Amino acid sequence: MYFDAHFHLVPAVEQCGLEKLLEFYRSENHAITCAHSVDEFEKQDSFIRDNNLEGVILQSFGIHPQLPLVSNAEYLEGLLKEKRIKLIGETGLDFFNEELKCKKTEQMEAFHICLELGLKYNVPLVIHNRKALDLMFTEIKSISKLPLVLFHSFAFSTREALNILKRNVNGVFSFSKQILNGNKKSISCLEELPMDRLFMETDAPFQTLKGEEFTLISDIKRVYEEGARIKKMSLEAFMEETGDNSKKLFFCF
Ligand SMILES: [Zn+2]
Repeated sequence: MYFDAHFHLVPAVEQCGLEKLLEFYRSENHAITCAHSVDEFEKQDSFIRDNNLEGVILQSFGIHPQLPLVSNAEYLEGLLKEKRIKLIGETGLDFFNEELKCKKTEQMEAFHICLELGLKYNVPLVIHNRKALDLMFTEIKSISKLPLVLFHSFAFSTREALNILKRNVNGVFSFSKQILNGNKKSISCLEELPMDRLFMETDAPFQTLKGEEFTLISDIKRVYEEGARIKKMSLEAFMEETGDNSKKLFFCF
């Protein structure tokens, strides 16, 4: 089975179509989907319930650093109380450009809300971090108390990944189509990290390669093929290991 550690169901359905998504997830594949607005989550949730995809596609809701809507904190806590989500995220810090850097205070506040709720309800966090790993390290003690942390589309070096693990964070790292793009940092990180810390993702319908309009949910196959090639493993063995890890780590919460 393919396990897509990170995608966005509502915009993916808009781009790829309902039938394609149902066909893909009715044949053994699994995923984690993230939503970042109340409307998006409600649509995601009804889609999953109406199509009996609970236990196949795990749901997450978070306050995204690019849109730090701290007013969603109460809604997020409601979802946790009612056990409507298995994970919190995306959350994190994004200082990729000047515009994002200007939202530092709101981003920090949103991240703290998600982190505190993750600790209170003992649920894993999906972390989005671009150019702000140092600042996240100031919270590493709290982060290490979370049951699990998924660093999605990890854009740092192996040394930085190992530093996170050394600080007792139960961290796993997922890689997207950046590895199809010859991204050296991600490729060596994937090469060097142990298999039990690795996952593949699409971030569909986002994170496109040059010339693509959007990312398809089935692009996870291309990411897996490249991941297996980098790890010098057969696709079958690679799928089996990541599949086993996903069951152990994510489908037990
Ligand atoms: Zn995403």
